[in-house]
Amino acid sequence: MTTVVATTQDEAPPSPAGPDGHRVRQLQAVLDELEAVSRFDRALDVVSDRAREAGDTARSLGLTELELRAELVAVDVRRRAGHVAEAGRTAQDVHRWATDHDAPRLLARAHFMLAAVFQELGDLSLALEHAVLSVERLGEEAPAAVAIDHRVRMADCLGLQGDVAAQDMYLDVLGLAERQADVDRQLLILNNSAYTASLAGAHERALVASTRLQDLSHQHAVPLDVGRLDTVARVLVGLGRLDEAEAALRPGLAPEVLALSPDGDAGADFLLTHAEVQRERGRCVEAQASLDECVRRCEEHGLTSIRVRTRREQAELYAAGGDYRAAFEEHKAYCREVLELQSVQRDARARTLQAMYETTEARRQSRRYRELSLRDPLTGLYNRRHVDEALPHLLVRGAVEGALVTVALLDLDHFKRVNDTFSHEVGDEVLRRVARLLEGAVSTAAEGSFAARMGGEEFLLVFVGEGLTDTARRFEDVRRAVADHPWAGLTGTLPVTVSIGVASASGPTVPAPADLLGRADAHLYRAKSLGRDRVVGD
Ligand code: GH3
Ligand code: MG
Ligand code: MG
Repeated sequence: MTTVVATTQDEAPPSPAGPDGHRVRQLQAVLDELEAVSRFDRALDVVSDRAREAGDTARSLGLTELELRAELVAVDVRRRAGHVAEAGRTAQDVHRWATDHDAPRLLARAHFMLAAVFQELGDLSLALEHAVLSVERLGEEAPAAVAIDHRVRMADCLGLQGDVAAQDMYLDVLGLAERQADVDRQLLILNNSAYTASLAGAHERALVASTRLQDLSHQHAVPLDVGRLDTVARVLVGLGRLDEAEAALRPGLAPEVLALSPDGDAGADFLLTHAEVQRERGRCVEAQASLDECVRRCEEHGLTSIRVRTRREQAELYAAGGDYRAAFEEHKAYCREVLELQSVQRDARARTLQAMYETTEARRQSRRYRELSLRDPLTGLYNRRHVDEALPHLLVRGAVEGALVTVALLDLDHFKRVNDTFSHEVGDEVLRRVARLLEGAVSTAAEGSFAARMGGEEFLLVFVGEGLTDTARRFEDVRRAVADHPWAGLTGTLPVTVSIGVASASGPTVPAPADLLGRADAHLYRAKSLGRDRVVGD
């Protein structure tokens, strides 16, 4: 899969007819849904196909924010298949774009993904930082399911560090899931709450959560998978209630239930807990059988870290059977392998982090070159290429957000005289100074507004999101700023003035950029014929 480093300049402009608000909202609804369902492990290939499709549609409409939301859904599926560095890179790229373009919802999703990535890399405090931001930035308009997911991840990051403060967060978000009648998420929350409470040694709290987990599963006839049965059993083991733990695990021993664990991971974990419970209950034969099956699965699926833990259990089992020599040998193997595993994991983590950041640096470079290619070398303003790429997007955005987009073509009056009377160099300096004045005008305007040099002594100003009167005043200010500039040092008694033609786009239909510019040009022509040094608009 290609990871998209999208900038507004990267896609084809939207078709002249433009998308209407309805199509945009449809696409938003699809993404809301995909973000919500991608939280679970079901039908992930369908999710990723649909995400790619939505991404393509968004790109063809020039809607970069939606395209990147789709990209995050697709790459999240890749992350879960083990492509953690790729997911990390994409999330960082998206994070940067969302920051540059002030897109809080997208930013929240990027943080959400980064939290998952760092959680997987074992950096829980960095994961928590991202999770907190993913909650803060999400905003009110996100669907409840997504808001729940962000809060759960925040609680997970805290809970996995053994902090009991996570439990209140779980309670909070559980209430949210109950109000939504979202059983899947309630089960998820109760499981994670029970697991992390038990990890933190808060066994009674863990029991409350795991009992609710079991009740909810019965009530809705949703059987608990082996991972959740494992949680319930661990909580009971923590309280020394071994017979109940054994009973809780029993449904998971059915071959068809065990087989549901896709890469064997949860199944192996489950068998290890089962072996431990049986040993503690004095059932060493059953314990050995479970442990043997667990080892077999570890070897079949390459589950190194669980395999190492089976050695510790094996040592306990030998000791329980009175074979202390074998127990000692096995324990030595366990200690050796733990150290090896830690160093392998450290290396893997370092490699992943490096892959995440190296490529990002390379991309930063190429973005800088790209940015340069969109600038006019004489004045440093954007060039026509940027206008061709950025204006269509701005017009779509204006239509979607119901914001006024105004363009103005500015042409220096009798500029030939400056060149002819003084020199081409003086003419160049005049162009540079006019460019600075235009930049000044844009610097106080809303985000997205920009100035460009269209060629020769012709410039473009684009203002976004202001009322007609405010915008009209801005152009009048620009005209006066040029006329009143102290030119005498440069051009003596020769005045420097501009004529300005203005056209606006507002309303739900997206005008073709060429039409809008054509209207501005017609007004500019009229400004010239009316005597120059003036603003003419719709
Ligand atoms: P009008 O008010 O009708 O626009 O008159 P004008 O003289 O500005 O228009 P005209 O199109 O006749 O001339 C434009 C001049 O701008 C001609 C060209 O030499 C000059 N010019 C175009 N590009 C540059 C540049 O990069 N540097 C300099 N110094 N002059 C330039
Ligand atoms: Mg001209
Ligand atoms: Mg001119």
